[in-house]
Amino acid sequence: MDLPSSPVSGGSSPWELADSLSGSDGGSVRETGAGDPAVAPKVWWAQKLMMHTATLGLMTPTLQNPVTCVSACTGSFAEGFVFEELDIPYTCLGMSEKCKPFQRFLQKNFTPKHLHESISEQAEGSGCLLHPNEKCEMPREPDFLCMGTPSNPYSRTRPKRFLCGSVKEHVSYQTTFEDAYSMLTKLEPRTAVMEQVDGFDLPFSMTEQESPKQRFLEGLADCQWTYGGYWIATLRLSAKIWLKINRERLYMVFFRKDTFTKDDVKSFVRLVTEITNLQKQEAPKSLESLMLSEDHEIFKTQMRSDEVKALAADQLQGRAEGEQKWQQQIATWRQDLKVPLGFRPFDKLRRPIQGISLNARISAILNMVTAEKIGGDKRKSKDEILSAVSCTVVDVSQNPMRRNYTPSHGTNHTMCTSSVLVHLGKFRTVVPAEMMLWQGHNISRLTYPDSESNRTWRSLAGEGMALPSIGTVI
Ligand SMILES: [Zn+2]
Repeated sequence: MDLPSSPVSGGSSPWELADSLSGSDGGSVRETGAGDPAVAPKVWWAQKLMMHTATLGLMTPTLQNPVTCVSACTGSFAEGFVFEELDIPYTCLGMSEKCKPFQRFLQKNFTPKHLHESISEQAEGSGCLLHPNEKCEMPREPDFLCMGTPSNPYSRTRPKRFLCGSVKEHVSYQTTFEDAYSMLTKLEPRTAVMEQVDGFDLPFSMTEQESPKQRFLEGLADCQWTYGGYWIATLRLSAKIWLKINRERLYMVFFRKDTFTKDDVKSFVRLVTEITNLQKQEAPKSLESLMLSEDHEIFKTQMRSDEVKALAADQLQGRAEGEQKWQQQIATWRQDLKVPLGFRPFDKLRRPIQGISLNARISAILNMVTAEKIGGDKRKSKDEILSAVSCTVVDVSQNPMRRNYTPSHGTNHTMCTSSVLVHLGKFRTVVPAEMMLWQGHNISRLTYPDSESNRTWRSLAGEGMALPSIGTVI
């Protein structure tokens, strides 16, 4: 799904604040600066972000102490990678993650002080996975709390999203509100970020006016605070200004009222807007520029294990859908494009796809995408077909009706946890590490635990926050 470009907006005004309360002066919006050129090469977006902040005349703040942060179900601990890329010293006081393989990923890449299975256990301070028989309280008042709340119930793409009661009955609804309230009230961090899909600020259902975000803010106003509560800026940030893939998310940024003034928050929003505008003047990076060479060690490992797993995933999906459904969708697609039954331009290339077995369903999808790319023209030569599909990525995990392939404007669809991507120009699947690269990760900082399937790492990449977006906020 592609959305109109509106990186910073929030309805009528670009930012929103919780109810006013006079805050003391002395706080300031954290700045990111030019960093130390002597350190290891930075990931591409961090270089650009630092360039933009330098253009805006911001200096690197010298921190007396590392930033203390608490991470609550952010998947890959994206904010930790961001701190490292931006050379911001930090201490992570605790993390939470319910998915076992993701827990192992976190332990392999970081040394969490505490690792809880859920946000509610983390907020309660019960024994964590590392210290099951102890009390593992998160220290109060960390500098930064990052919450990656489950986003399923609000997603616009979920088919039943707008049915009455649909969002409220979804279990994650409870999680978003209750867990976020308890983390915020228990810890009262100086700043916090909560990521949500864009549907979070749309009405609950077709018969209601109120959005989950409004309800969330109302509940927040009822909470008891020691420091007077929070100013909240809501930012809509899109990863597509950084690279050619869509990922539009709402970031609710919390500023504790005793530390920050309303003007500080306004300055913060202005700063994010200015950074975003500078980035929009540049061409977004191509996905091909963020793919691994085939002799890269990670590529060799992941491509090898991919062959079996991707096939298994596809067979499962085929069974669940029923054979006929995808065939009907392909027939509709063929009618839309006005091409005959035997028109299979991808087959004409006679090339296998490395990393996946071409069953009837996948083969039909790839043929239709290729047909689209050459405009249904039967006279195209092999070379012309190759050139037409050279920068085309297809998500073969999705139903044909979704038409999930690189559109003509070039910005790819948002990756999701089930995505299995085929790069048609390279005749191979996209390995999970490349999906992580597309989320903004630095490949040299990533370590994968052994013995997990590519499916697991694909879902981690599909769930993760876009690092350029969270980086801009931090
Ligand atoms: Zn612990």
